[in-house]
Amino acid sequence: MKIGIVGLGLIGGSLAIAFREKGLEVLGVSRKNTTCETALRKGIVDQASTDFALLKDADVVFLCTPIKAILPTAQTLIPHLKSTAILTDVASVKGEIVQAIAPLWPNFVGGHPMAGTAEQGIDAALPGLFINAPYVLTPTPETSPDAVKILKDLITLLQSRFYCCAPEIHDQAVAWISHLPVYVSASLIAACGSEINPEVLQMAQALASSGFRDTSRVGGGNPELGLMMAQGNQQALLKSLTHYRQQLDQVIADLEAENWEAIAQFLTATQRQRPDFL
Ligand code: NAP
Repeated sequence: MKIGIVGLGLIGGSLAIAFREKGLEVLGVSRKNTTCETALRKGIVDQASTDFALLKDADVVFLCTPIKAILPTAQTLIPHLKSTAILTDVASVKGEIVQAIAPLWPNFVGGHPMAGTAEQGIDAALPGLFINAPYVLTPTPETSPDAVKILKDLITLLQSRFYCCAPEIHDQAVAWISHLPVYVSASLIAACGSEINPEVLQMAQALASSGFRDTSRVGGGNPELGLMMAQGNQQALLKSLTHYRQQLDQVIADLEAENWEAIAQFLTATQRQRPDFL
């Protein structure tokens, strides 16, 4: 089987490494010549080019560009594909992408590997990135079951944990566990930073330790990524943020009323719930 990868960055490069390790032939297409040269020099791909014609014999093609470039890249790529080729993408949001690409290519299946690091580009590509990580496909009722089956087998080959759900279920689920945490964490940093007493602020900054490090990590990360989450998953993120605000209002009301029993019950429930997510 010939695997095509478009966008040789962290995710595309890591997929290429993983498939080559499993003995599959990997053809890489990227925007920059230098990226293609690096991918070849490091043995990440068998062949690399900036020309989509390289993928004319590919059996399965993974679109691994940034979210905004997925649809225009698919539109440019599709005329080069053989009729039986399976097309998938790795973008972190699915609804709009699946809706836009599925009508263009009958063998398209949306996908999202839940793995990554804070680094970007071909030099960030890692072996073993997808081992034990969840990898979700988001078919619609119209998606070819054969294409899903072939991708499922490839995901199993990566040693990822396979999941399958509708695109809108995926988007709401990642809004809860990935996109909401970014905005909660960013708001935490902003709220702490808004302390107007300079002595308190200075002391808070000096005393911040592991608890603050854990809770501020995702809010203090790459702003471009956070913005893309908000733009690409606006409705689901809004729904999660609204529920979160209601939850905060409840905590404030219980605090004002000195309803310690309600607060204790709340924290006991969240302590019980946390392991269900991790
Ligand atoms: P990345 O490291 O920046 O890689 C993307 C690659 O796409 C770049 O190396 C670049 O190749 C190429 N590219 C950049 N802009 C482009 C454009 N406008 N048109 C065509 N190609 C372009 O990004 P990534 O972290 O791998 O993310 C890629 C995709 O994976 C995104 O859709 C993201 O949502 C998804 N994803 C990311 C993570 C994560 O944690 N990072 C996790 C799961 C899924 P050149 O060097 O040739 O320009």
